[in-house]
Amino acid sequence: RAKEMGRNRYEIFSLEMYQQAIARLNLENELRLAIQQQHFVVHYQPIVSLKTRSLLGFEALARWQHPTQGLIMPGEFIDLAEDTGLIKPLGGQILRQVCETLSQWSASYSLGNGFQVSVNVSGQQFRDPAFIHTVDRILVDTGVAGRWLKFEITERILLEQSESIASTLAAIRSRGIELSIDDFGTGYSSLRYLSQFSVQTLKIDRSFVNQMQPTRQGIVQAIVDLAHNLEMTCIAEGVETELQLNQLLSLGCEAAQGYFFARPLPVEAATQMLEGDRRLP
Ligand code: C2E
Ligand code: MG
Ligand code: MG
Ligand code: MG
Repeated sequence: RAKEMGRNRYEIFSLEMYQQAIARLNLENELRLAIQQQHFVVHYQPIVSLKTRSLLGFEALARWQHPTQGLIMPGEFIDLAEDTGLIKPLGGQILRQVCETLSQWSASYSLGNGFQVSVNVSGQQFRDPAFIHTVDRILVDTGVAGRWLKFEITERILLEQSESIASTLAAIRSRGIELSIDDFGTGYSSLRYLSQFSVQTLKIDRSFVNQMQPTRQGIVQAIVDLAHNLEMTCIAEGVETELQLNQLLSLGCEAAQGYFFARPLPVEAATQMLEGDRRLP
């Protein structure tokens, strides 16, 4: 009987599970090494004014430049980085890279009023009381002004109601860094927290933009109206067609990003865009 149970147990922890655990450990080790060796690059996706079709700024998106596998997308490593705490050093490297680029851009071009780069900040980073010190050190080292940056966070962070999150929010605000709620509408969307903190922008999740029909725009309309009632602006994510663009424009949405305008670009291509007339299709 005992022998049988032993064998069952052995079977439950199957070879497949073992292999999955090993694969995860390998990925974690590789990720750790990649952070040590700074194998990450930032790609920049244009954020466009719907009225003027001009460039308002970029969203910074992390890519892992793997020595043998090529460019690895965030979907394959951000979750693991969050689970292991590695998102803290990784997020710091991304922010530093963005600020170094911003510093070069501002030395070479007139960036214009309101130009901003949005950086995704995960809950793990935001909860860390040392996060604001990391931010300050990077701003000082690169000479970047807080108002050139925007942090994209998720609704969940605002719901946590912890001391350290409240003080991080206040500190960010006092540096002049703005806040966006990313993927708005896919989480808990508590309206109370939205009005309690100073948030400048709601980003309408791609899934809502995709679902828009000429006669069915209710959710997107509701988010745009909510943003405006709370004196926030709206950015639509994942705009892929001119029809979507025109619908968003007629709903009063201010800005958008998506493959219709441009994919996330390597830093050289983003820089070229700054050199040009900064108009998008
Ligand atoms: P997100 O912040 O919602 O970023 C938007 C994602 O949508 C990006 O995917 C972008 O490439 C993609 N996208 C933009 N326009 C279109 C479109 O028209 N069609 C479609 N199908 N997709 C579009 P990406 O770069 O793979 O990033 C995925 C997610 O990974 C991001 O979602 C963000 O949550 C996370 N992420 C990326 N970089 C960072 C980072 O530096 N730190 C943290 N914490 N998270 C990051
Ligand atoms: Mg984002
Ligand atoms: Mg998003
Ligand atoms: Mg999204």
